[in-house]
Amino acid sequence: MKSRETIVGGNWKMNTTLAGAPVLAEGVARAVPGGVSVAVFPPFPFLLPVRDALARAGAAGRVALGAQDAYFEPKGAFTGEVSLDMLRECGVTLVLAGHSERRHVLGESDELVGRKASAILAAGMRCVLCIGETLAERESGRTQGVNERQLRAGLRGVGPSNAERLVIAYEPVWAIGTGKAATPTDAREAHGHIRSVLGELLGGTAAERTPIMYGGSVTAANAASLMAQPDVDGALVGGASLKVDEFSAICAAAAG
Ligand code: PEP
Repeated sequence: MKSRETIVGGNWKMNTTLAGAPVLAEGVARAVPGGVSVAVFPPFPFLLPVRDALARAGAAGRVALGAQDAYFEPKGAFTGEVSLDMLRECGVTLVLAGHSERRHVLGESDELVGRKASAILAAGMRCVLCIGETLAERESGRTQGVNERQLRAGLRGVGPSNAERLVIAYEPVWAIGTGKAATPTDAREAHGHIRSVLGELLGGTAAERTPIMYGGSVTAANAASLMAQPDVDGALVGGASLKVDEFSAICAAAAG
């Protein structure tokens, strides 16, 4: 049994519908076991119906409502962006920063991700800072260097005092949505290194307390072996989070 919190998140990305999102949320709420923190990250327009569905299923405190992104400014002329106060009003308690699709498809810089992470924590919400290397970076031996760079930039505004709401998600880009998950050994090595960088940046106590999720083609079949690794404290799940049975089996594996 790990001493740290174990957390599993379902990142629905740009999937589901207005009718389907609450049905999925209710299914998740009824199926997930205890002993693990669970969050779902629906698309912005479906946050309120999903919040209401979780409440109907009696899971309002048990399954947290997450947002896939947020802007760091509190309000103003930022067309298309969504603020942390707006998300809080919708019942959101945790927010992703720097998901690989934000970095590599939408072009977010390390610096922007860092500003978002600081703003999320300053708003009193939990921040899931996502990091991870591309295939080219891995093949040229730069995995640790990339993770360290993204951590340093992402945590520039974070210290021991606000780190208690921090979660890291290690998501190698080559494993996301490809069906090719990292091996347990890959994950163990990367997570161990990430924890040592966290120790340097935030101090040993905060580093030990911070959950590090693994993400990238997690399924019910590979979840247990990944989460058996010492520094793997849960999973951030994309495709498999859209199926109640698959997602709840991953949560059960995380719960041990
Ligand atoms: C993700 O979206 O963070 C992710 C890991 O996706 P998938 O599980 O589909 O690889």
